[in-house]
Amino acid sequence: MNGGLRMCDLAVPGVRGLEPYQPGKPVEELEREYGVRDAIKLASNENPLGPSPRALDALARALPGIARYPDGGGFALKHAIARRHAVAPECVTIGNGSNDILELAARCFATTGDEVVFSQHAFAVYPIVTQAVGARATVVPARNWGHDLDAMLRAMNERTKLVFIANPNNPTGTWIGRKALDRFLAAVPQRVIVVLDEAYFEYVEEPDYPNGMEWIGRYPNLLVARTFSKAYGLAGLRVGFGVSDAALADLLNRVRQPFNVSSLAQAAAVAAIEDSDHLERSRQVNREGMRQLIDGFRALGLGYIPSVGNFLSVELPLAGRAVYEGLLREGVIVRPVANYGMPHHLRVTVGLPQDNSRFLQGLKKVLATAQS
Ligand SMILES: *Cc1c(COP(=O)(O)O)cnc(C)c1O
Repeated sequence: MNGGLRMCDLAVPGVRGLEPYQPGKPVEELEREYGVRDAIKLASNENPLGPSPRALDALARALPGIARYPDGGGFALKHAIARRHAVAPECVTIGNGSNDILELAARCFATTGDEVVFSQHAFAVYPIVTQAVGARATVVPARNWGHDLDAMLRAMNERTKLVFIANPNNPTGTWIGRKALDRFLAAVPQRVIVVLDEAYFEYVEEPDYPNGMEWIGRYPNLLVARTFSKAYGLAGLRVGFGVSDAALADLLNRVRQPFNVSSLAQAAAVAAIEDSDHLERSRQVNREGMRQLIDGFRALGLGYIPSVGNFLSVELPLAGRAVYEGLLREGVIVRPVANYGMPHHLRVTVGLPQDNSRFLQGLKKVLATAQS
């Protein structure tokens, strides 16, 4: 700009200090930059089976209607969600991915001078939405890579407006059991909004893993966030939702852009929610792939953080970044997590058996080269 004025100085303080979210590298970019072919991406926790065939059919049927704006109220989708989860439609907020729900919560409840509590190593979107609204992040040290709920409670004060809990957390895959989480929810002051991020809910098979929706009636300050991006295989469409007390949902809906979820996304999500067979197959593939990766890590003598999601963070004897670069040359994209305070780990998404094999072989080769 003229006069030595820097564009950055015009931004609000929170935005000036923001580190942009680092998404997984797209396959096309890797192939272009490294000249490799048939690259595979195990970097963004997408469903390796792809979307439900019923969702694809619904998309094809919805396609001729795209000249029209979507249903801003998301009537059919809200009712499908309400039916599936036995909640009232008034309790549902639809989002452009569940990231949208996380941001709506920050915009509704926090501003300059407020504080937002979340854990060390927690999902990267929490600091972004916190800073963007001018609030201050209180990052609570993790315990064994997971959330330290007691320390999180102690970190709250009269300025605290919001707390983010990822169950399970990404990128660590750690989770919180029913009793511990219930005790936490009961102890959080009612004026603090608890955003319980359950993006991987459908994958978790631990009997003691809680369903946050069962607490909606009990805790009016609870907002459960879910997504169609992971087990439902619709990441590219951008659709997620929040479930909360109707009064909280009403506030989120005041801030929400009226057409935040496209007509195609709404149609596909309604169909996906009804396809329990596809969901069950997805869980099966994940269960087997998780075992395959763990066996592979053990064979290589590598440690990992036990995960209940569709991804694993593996511990490496050298900088994760170096192994990441080596794997790129093998045509395998995983996720560096140094920006999560985990410079010696890489996060890998559970893929189809052949993808998991290719990743493990690439990893073996990269480690052997680095150590020779
Ligand atoms: C992937 C993920 C989300 C979901 O993002 P969308 O916007 O729904 O695609 C939310 N929270 C966590 C912890 C995630 O890993």
